[in-house]
Amino acid sequence: MRIHFLGAAGGVTGSMHLLEVNGKRILLDCGLHQGRRDESNRLNRSLPFAPENVDVMVLSHAHIDHSGNIPLLCRKYDGDIITTLATRDLCAVMLMDSAHIQEKDAEFFNKKIADAPDKQISPIYSYADVDKCLTQFIAINYGRPFPLTDGVKMTLYDAGHVLGSAVVVLDIKEENKKLRLVYSGDIGRKRLPILQDPTLIHDAEIMLLESTYGNRKHDPIETADEHLADAIHTIYKRKSKLIIPSFALERAQEIVYSIRKLLKQNRIPRLPVYVDSPLAIRVTEIFRLHPECFDEEILTMFDNHEDPFDFSDLEMVRSKENSQSLNEQDGPMVIISASGMCEAGRILHHLRNNIGNPNNMILIVGFQAQHTLGRKIVERQSTVRIFGLEHSLEAEVRVINAFSGHADKDGLDDFALASKNTLNKLFLIHGEPDQSQAMAERLRSKGLNDIHVPERGEYVDL
Ligand SMILES: [Zn+2]
Ligand SMILES: [Zn+2]
Repeated sequence: MRIHFLGAAGGVTGSMHLLEVNGKRILLDCGLHQGRRDESNRLNRSLPFAPENVDVMVLSHAHIDHSGNIPLLCRKYDGDIITTLATRDLCAVMLMDSAHIQEKDAEFFNKKIADAPDKQISPIYSYADVDKCLTQFIAINYGRPFPLTDGVKMTLYDAGHVLGSAVVVLDIKEENKKLRLVYSGDIGRKRLPILQDPTLIHDAEIMLLESTYGNRKHDPIETADEHLADAIHTIYKRKSKLIIPSFALERAQEIVYSIRKLLKQNRIPRLPVYVDSPLAIRVTEIFRLHPECFDEEILTMFDNHEDPFDFSDLEMVRSKENSQSLNEQDGPMVIISASGMCEAGRILHHLRNNIGNPNNMILIVGFQAQHTLGRKIVERQSTVRIFGLEHSLEAEVRVINAFSGHADKDGLDDFALASKNTLNKLFLIHGEPDQSQAMAERLRSKGLNDIHVPERGEYVDL
């Protein structure tokens, strides 16, 4: 058996691992790299393996850093893509959006270098590529064992990270030896709104575990609402705008749900709230279709014919015209827009129009990868580049890390230590090196001996 770590190794984005077992190749995730533009572009345009030689693919969840390069894969790969029901539905909209972003990106880039026709680029994949890959999905529910390849049975368990997210458990038989391999995907947190708690897996012998927050502790989830209420009060008094860059998947629904709750509890004044992201709107529609992912609270609301993702002052902004008209309107208002790391989408025009006013507030509620515009805002750099132009960062910036959809160091330790008695080898992936290394040291001190932080491109024979 061999594991080839092809992405999200020594970094967070571009999740991709190729497992060879019984002569078959199983691809775990096929995500896009995000970060420095040139480097990401180079990594994303050519897959570091031969797609036609893959036998089957498993997808942990719909985030683009895990699913985003499936359309490119499927130009040469005709096999199955196995995932959960919700992830399949989410991919239908997320991958279309990704194709759209790439098309716009290429257009923008090519316009800038119009006088150099030899340097023009094309999008990594097209809408047609997305259509094709969607025909290859096979969706299964949590907890239903599925025969994956020769000698490999797969079961997906709820990872509690985003709608449909799964921990992948492979029960492998190789030359009369039995072995349990666990691929964590991204692990969520206990008591996260909307979703069920992550499932702990016991008896893993080999584990590939994410380490995004391997050395950080989140503020308690309960404090998220307080901070959000405080931010809303502040901009309400200033009659200004609260701009919330948000992932279209999960965070946008969480924020809407939180605001709805705060209104219901009379903890904030009424004010207009806009979800200005066509993708977030479509994703919200998909949420309503997947009760298998909901926690008790949300299930009860649906049973009582309440909609957790709607309230009277909420407007879903669909058209571009309505989105632009928000620029002309005075606050107070809340604008929830994507993309979450401020790399693309309508959030860019809201930032461009509002970042220069110290009365406005930018509220960061999600993970910001290195070199993204979102990270520069978190670091409060004095000027930031938007649509190719420098803008002075005058707006107040606040960060709420309590919303994180990732387990923090305690949650990750719990996940790893659930298999303490059986674990032979632990690989820490999906983390910046300082996080992964600190986590490795800590887990060694808790009795796990064989821990390795692989680099991108490294393979390990087992
Ligand atoms: Zn994720
Ligand atoms: Zn991820």
